[in-house]
Amino acid sequence: MIFSPTLNNIEIAISQLKSGNLIGLPTETVYGLGGDARNSDVVAKIFALKGRPSFNPLISHVCDIEMAMQYGEFSKTAKLLAEHFWPGAFTIVVQRKANSEICDLTCAGLETIALRCPNHEIANQIIKGFGAPIAAPSANISGHVSPTSAQHVENEFGDNLSTIIDGGECQIGLESTVVAVFENEVTLLRYGAITIEEIENVIGGRVQIANLKDEKSPKSPGMLLKHYSPNAPLFLDCDKAQEGEILIGFGDMDCQLNLSKTANLQEAAANLYKMIRQADAQKPRAIKIAPIPNTGIGAAINDRLSRAAEK
Ligand code: AMP
Ligand code: MG
Repeated sequence: MIFSPTLNNIEIAISQLKSGNLIGLPTETVYGLGGDARNSDVVAKIFALKGRPSFNPLISHVCDIEMAMQYGEFSKTAKLLAEHFWPGAFTIVVQRKANSEICDLTCAGLETIALRCPNHEIANQIIKGFGAPIAAPSANISGHVSPTSAQHVENEFGDNLSTIIDGGECQIGLESTVVAVFENEVTLLRYGAITIEEIENVIGGRVQIANLKDEKSPKSPGMLLKHYSPNAPLFLDCDKAQEGEILIGFGDMDCQLNLSKTANLQEAAANLYKMIRQADAQKPRAIKIAPIPNTGIGAAINDRLSRAAEK
């Protein structure tokens, strides 16, 4: 059920977490399916409800750097990045602290942990009130389009999720940028709103891009998956649709759905999942998407689209 974000309802969400239940919670990236990151029974419920493969680790959400540093080993560079980009759409993978309370299942048995402090007041109130990290992947069935509104979350899970806190539409609408940081080496594991150039400006050095084939590159299980897919087949770089197909445009194009008529990439990112869901709901033979420039957050949009598209 969807609840408005009153203080009372936020308290209800916190007490649900404390009794080992899952909640749907808003963040600035996408809605999360959250549970106690320390409790393996709870985290098992997250994997089961999503149908997520258990080799794909979850992000632990914290309310500040202090909470993050209780669970991960932050090098100088990792701390610098956290100070610069948190709260925000930026996930940092670091070595797990020995005897960390976070359960192995959250980290899929890896020696590393992914941490993020969301830039969203409701999410932060919930994490702070709960007092410990919340494991929260996107609140959708694994492989589906990610949810950017409370209604999307309810459409995914129905009665199987009793508490969804409504924080309105997600401002960014795309999952966080993910980097692994060991000592002063930074490796990009997933494209997001924060770009490689912004990260390089902060660290004053180069960012590596994870190479799945290289044994020495940090493990990034999530990059292997076909992901973010609607039911209808999706085709990229299109400028028209045939009978029974839907075109999602970008820029000055005349079509029913347009990610951004003014060719604004931020606006396109925020509309992406919503419009893919709107198109899919009409049960078209195919969804076609206009070309998106690969600059700034456009790289993250194209990354998601290439995983969602027909190969
Ligand atoms: P999601 O929860 O679906 O937004 O995905 C989280 C992303 O972070 C996935 O791509 C995961 O593979 C990645 N991730 C989470 N934890 C780790 C970790 N310890 N090491 C490397 N990648 C991770
Ligand atoms: Mg996801």
